Amino acid sequence: MTNTIPKAPFKKAASETGDPFLLTPGPLTTSRSVKASMVHDWGSRDANFGAINKAVLQHLPEIVKGAEDYIAVPMQGSGTFAVEAMLTTFVPPKGRVLLLVNGAYGHRAKRILDIAKRRALVHETPEDTLPDLEKVERLLKRTPSITHIFAVHCETTSGILNPVDEIGALAEKYGKSFLLDSMSAFGALPLDVGRAHVDAVAASSNKCIEGVPGLGFVICRKEAVIAAKGHATTLALDLHDQWANLEKTGQYRFTPPIHVIVAFHQALREFAAEGGVEGRGRRYRENCRILIEGMRALGFRTLLPDHLQAPIIVTFHMPTHERFVFQHFYDGLKERGYVIYPGKLTVADSFRIGCIGRLGEKEMRGALAAVREVLDEMGVSDPAAKAA
Ligand SMILES: *Cc1c(COP(=O)(O)O)cnc(C)c1O
Repeated sequence: MTNTIPKAPFKKAASETGDPFLLTPGPLTTSRSVKASMVHDWGSRDANFGAINKAVLQHLPEIVKGAEDYIAVPMQGSGTFAVEAMLTTFVPPKGRVLLLVNGAYGHRAKRILDIAKRRALVHETPEDTLPDLEKVERLLKRTPSITHIFAVHCETTSGILNPVDEIGALAEKYGKSFLLDSMSAFGALPLDVGRAHVDAVAASSNKCIEGVPGLGFVICRKEAVIAAKGHATTLALDLHDQWANLEKTGQYRFTPPIHVIVAFHQALREFAAEGGVEGRGRRYRENCRILIEGMRALGFRTLLPDHLQAPIIVTFHMPTHERFVFQHFYDGLKERGYVIYPGKLTVADSFRIGCIGRLGEKEMRGALAAVREVLDEMGVSDPAAKAA
């Protein structure tokens, strides 16, 4: 009988280009100007494209304070292509990697190493728990065969912020090479690759720099790239070969994602105009604060305590209220112009809402208003309550 009553009309929010806002781990909402920069054709040997590509690669190491000794090596593909390129280029056949795992991206690194037949040792903690650095130190002490340490900066599975500087200090103390997946943190959370003793850090075009998807990159200590010659297990993902060829000819070995790189260049200009890591980080922290305060006021609970939460993506416990149906919640938000993301945790049933991309206070408050409306529609007054 209730389905004969028409739904109350609601306001539908939309980005500058009329699309729903993406409150997800990426790809993300981008500016109109970033998208508009792509409405051209370029040949891969086009001189303008060559100059744009060079400017992008020169700028990237500065973002992590690596302008002096570090270089950026691009890798066609999504972020995982860059992580796989990093691991398989830097870890030699006789190497052994200590992986600090507290989420899906740590597990993915393990799969990459298994497939490449590189030895790995895993220190795993639950998704809401930091690595135990005392245990890590004991492992380093008693396992001299370890050559590399791999960690994930912000583990996007939960949104937890891992202690990069402390892990780097251990790598330095025990003479190990430190490889970092900073995909979802790059450009928003401060990172000083020299101070953190990072040899290589992987990231991509479509996260906090707010470009479109299609380009990964690895910022590496130049000496480490030179020393990695001949390690690669594949042709396409060989960072040494990619770098050497770019150095020699200024050209990519295989077709570059030209439009993505041109859009990335525009995104980097907008990133610099916003004040770089400091400005972007400030906007995301504010987005995160508004989101968490608003969701808690509506009765939701975050997975992580505030001191472990990175201002990138927030995991909320799935409401226990009997009338809460996630698909209805998701669809109701999407109809109103906000796309959220299911959880993929093993420790708890959950969903995630991102704070990154071309979003500010207005969008975060709009998303909260939409959450409230959809809860009302479902008849859920207190999401944490068990029964109506
Ligand atoms: C997004 C992300 C990746 C890469 O994922 P792709 O889907 O391949 O772009 C890797 N690591 C982390 C931590 C990420 O957030």
